[in-house]
Amino acid sequence: MSQKATFAMFETMGGARVRRIPVEAFPDFWAYVYLVQKEQYRVLIDTGSGTDTSHENLLSGLKQARIEPSGLTHIFLTHAHIDHFGGLAKLHPLTSAKIGCHELDLQTVAHHEAHYAWVGRRIDSFLAQTGLADETREQALSIFRFSKAIYQSVPVDCTFESLDMCHGPFEFLHLPGHCPGHVAIRLDDVVFCGDMVIQGVTPHLSPEWIHPYSGLDHYLDSLTQLEHWGKAARCFFNGHNAVITDLPAQIEATKQNILRRMSKAVDALHNPLTIAEVCRAVYGETGGYQQLLTIEKTGAYVEYLYERGMIVITNPGDVEQGQPARYQRLWDQTQTIAELEKKILRYTYIQEGI
Ligand SMILES: [Zn+2]
Ligand SMILES: [Zn+2]
Repeated sequence: MSQKATFAMFETMGGARVRRIPVEAFPDFWAYVYLVQKEQYRVLIDTGSGTDTSHENLLSGLKQARIEPSGLTHIFLTHAHIDHFGGLAKLHPLTSAKIGCHELDLQTVAHHEAHYAWVGRRIDSFLAQTGLADETREQALSIFRFSKAIYQSVPVDCTFESLDMCHGPFEFLHLPGHCPGHVAIRLDDVVFCGDMVIQGVTPHLSPEWIHPYSGLDHYLDSLTQLEHWGKAARCFFNGHNAVITDLPAQIEATKQNILRRMSKAVDALHNPLTIAEVCRAVYGETGGYQQLLTIEKTGAYVEYLYERGMIVITNPGDVEQGQPARYQRLWDQTQTIAELEKKILRYTYIQEGI
């Protein structure tokens, strides 16, 4: 979010104190870190990005809460995206708090340099398959490499799996899709849901082609899991904006946003198009970081449509020669959208039947 975020305090039904600390993760892009105090626990949920500004914001938020970094008992990560875990690198030397993340995010947090070298190769190969011009591709990759410059690997003390998905009063639910190791953390009657649902924003998705356990299929499934698991919760604290009190409505809005974007893609796909061409049809001309985000999102949508048999590859001979695939829809617009609506909204129908 680009609006200035605000410090706030909440109390759970079980008497835990939650402080919401705003950090400017990147210029004009704010994120929330949460400090939770309950019994002997002083837990930080996420850490900001680790830029100098983000780190200063985090330290001043802790100071406002009268907690020293050395007084933290645990740091739990909702997921390994740089705006949420990057702050560990600067925080780690100041604290002996136990650091926990999901095992599918372990390589990103604890073996960052090697893992990013590997992921970078996969992004490069994905971008080459999208048909994006070489120059634009290079720009998009350089943005990805930027995060390497602000983070150095930090050892993880425990994965949530090793804790059997709970620790003291904290419970964890694995929600892959937006990020392979994304989790929600439940405490009393509140849930910390990271980037799973954010008001007015469709969370970023990248194709499973790049990161296993990401992509639209996993994300939709995770929305259903969260809705079910969070049924009794009163508040959902996310990583970027206002507290969510009506989760089903927020999930419905998120699904409608995805459907709207995908309808544009399906409309364009009456002609055989590369992923880069579909991206342009859906998002228009973009550049820099936006280019990387939009091409990854489009890749996730096209991957879903292809895996679900709604589009086909029209140039198998070219693909065999290493050229980008061109995709085209199998049915007309109305039938394809009707099928998509059924698939994307179907989990809601199942839940209503329970
Ligand atoms: Zn994220
Ligand atoms: Zn985020």
